[in-house]
Amino acid sequence: MNTTINIAILAHVDAGKTTLTEALLYHTGELRKLGNVDKGTAVSDFLPVEKDRGISVVASNVSFNYQGIDFNIIDTPGHADFVSEVERSLIAADIVILMISASDGVQAQTRSLWQIIEKLRIPKLILVNKIDNITVDIERVVLEIKTELKTPIVVRQNVNIAEDKHVLLSSILSAENELKDEYYETLADYDDEILNDFLQGNIITEQKAESVYKTECRNAIITPLLYSVAKKSIGIPDLLDEIVKVFLPDNINSDLGFSARVFKISHNALFGRMAFIKIISGSLHKKQEVYNQRIADTEKINLIKRIFSNRFFDIEEAIAGQIVAVTGFMNARVGDVLGEVNVEQRFEFNTVPILTVEVKSVEKEKYAPLAQALLQMNMEDPLLNFRWFKDEQQLHINVNGKIQIQILQRLIKDRYDIETVFETPSIIYKETPKTVAFAYEEYTMPKPCWAVIKLKVEPAPRGSGVEYHSEVGVNDILLKYQKEVERTIPLALEQGIKGWGVTDIKITLVDGEDHVMHSRSGDFVVATPMAIMNALKEADTELLEPIMKFNLQAPESILGQIVSDIHKMRGEFEQPVFFEDKISITGKLPASTSMDYPVALASLSGGKAFIQMQFDSYQLVDERFAVIREFRGISPLHRAKYILKARNAIH
Ligand code: GDP
Ligand code: MG
Repeated sequence: MNTTINIAILAHVDAGKTTLTEALLYHTGELRKLGNVDKGTAVSDFLPVEKDRGISVVASNVSFNYQGIDFNIIDTPGHADFVSEVERSLIAADIVILMISASDGVQAQTRSLWQIIEKLRIPKLILVNKIDNITVDIERVVLEIKTELKTPIVVRQNVNIAEDKHVLLSSILSAENELKDEYYETLADYDDEILNDFLQGNIITEQKAESVYKTECRNAIITPLLYSVAKKSIGIPDLLDEIVKVFLPDNINSDLGFSARVFKISHNALFGRMAFIKIISGSLHKKQEVYNQRIADTEKINLIKRIFSNRFFDIEEAIAGQIVAVTGFMNARVGDVLGEVNVEQRFEFNTVPILTVEVKSVEKEKYAPLAQALLQMNMEDPLLNFRWFKDEQQLHINVNGKIQIQILQRLIKDRYDIETVFETPSIIYKETPKTVAFAYEEYTMPKPCWAVIKLKVEPAPRGSGVEYHSEVGVNDILLKYQKEVERTIPLALEQGIKGWGVTDIKITLVDGEDHVMHSRSGDFVVATPMAIMNALKEADTELLEPIMKFNLQAPESILGQIVSDIHKMRGEFEQPVFFEDKISITGKLPASTSMDYPVALASLSGGKAFIQMQFDSYQLVDERFAVIREFRGISPLHRAKYILKARNAIH
């Protein structure tokens, strides 16, 4: 079987990703007619919403063969609201191509993508596109990339623009030139032999240099920089050759057992639920029993399909390195590790949605179908955190921004034919206990039931989340009942006394008892939320608000206005960095005050300024700005009513 390489292409909006994907497919003979994003014919933009807007929303895979190697291209969404899709697609990537448009230079979004790439330690290559634009100063762009990304970069090509404006690219290795010296100088930092030769003016053997270069690129230390004019298919063969030469994965040991990672779940009208997986080792047959490490259970898959854009082809077997879609997999979630082999866990999903929004159907009778639709979409994207408050007939989801709302609205219409209204989104606050407190819960009436617990709650350090442990022996409370307490805690913390999720809390089970005769399974599930709510009431809670990291670029002339805006939004920032006539500012802003700032800034600057925001942390909010929300459903503080409802649900 062929070697496979999986490539994620990341870029700011409009850098030319979709155009590049088309050019790669065309060049390798996979596409006879070059698709065109401007005309809505690009193969990798297949959702109606993408064709309409000319932007890519959902990562789609296309593949082609070049020199006997299977290339999988993962075209990732460009907009900041979809960072989670970007991170997910990187689960499957062997290398990342970071595209930067020469006309736009390093954008704030480029920098935030760079942070993700660096954090995940994925080998990467920078592709500077649109160098055919006559107003572009290529040297300046490269300098900007080196300064802004602060990383060792090796420029691999010389650019010559011919009389007729045609762009010519040549390898730096083909002749003596300044860039070749720079290349050796960079390598000298990683190899003593090269350093010596370089210092003493000796001739450096190209073979030796290329081997050091290759190693450091694969270690994600050195980043190659290449050029392209995607629109005219210039630079495509050089790009492919560089990838083959430097980044081809080693032969994977097929003796190892099967292991894979799930990077996407989606629903297909024809095949139902599909899990997209990247096979890390071993192989997978159709109808194979597969072990899922998260749920510690096996499940039998049905079919295996190779993916090409929105089309699928059945295959009997898939091997290490490949990306495939499997059907019949009902329990898999994004991020799951499959198989019994231990694999490196370099991925953590830290994209935290900061807005919650209520969704309504325009036609009242479509309320239930809408709930079903959201349930299904939530399986594909657990970050939506869909909540269905049945008593209130309310449907709520979490989102990252207003663009995501527009996209979701359109997806629901296209896929389920439901017209929706999204209410004004609200910031997601959290609450945390103010002091240490205890609560004693004696759930022994109305019989039959018996669950007695004493819980201690304590404030915990910022960002520490929820910590639980038990000091009670199994003689007092049987292990199976203690497990009920532990299992119920996340649920009980979903809404605290101020209506928000509770975090940065330490909970200890300090005392309690079960009863040989009267305790039934589920009793401790009923008792735990009552104990927790009472303890929180005793401790009182304070609110935390989401804080965003921001990076802003603007013309220097509006610095004064920006500084004043940041103060008004209760923000803080570091010393601005000046770059020619532009400034770059990084800092922090509360999400609640800055939600609409990107739009305000764009109009203030006539489109010349740009701000990139990303979730940073939850921090205490001044009481004056705190927002308290009503409890949804029946609060465990309303004891009698709550017990009645909980018992009906359990027994
Ligand atoms: P994406 O948002 O990154 O997927 O970018 P697209 O592929 O949709 O391209 C954005 C725009 O840039 C389109 O109008 C393309 O035709 C144009 N474009 C793409 N590559 C080039 C290039 O190399 N040179 C020029 N001048 N324009 C390009
Ligand atoms: Mg695109």
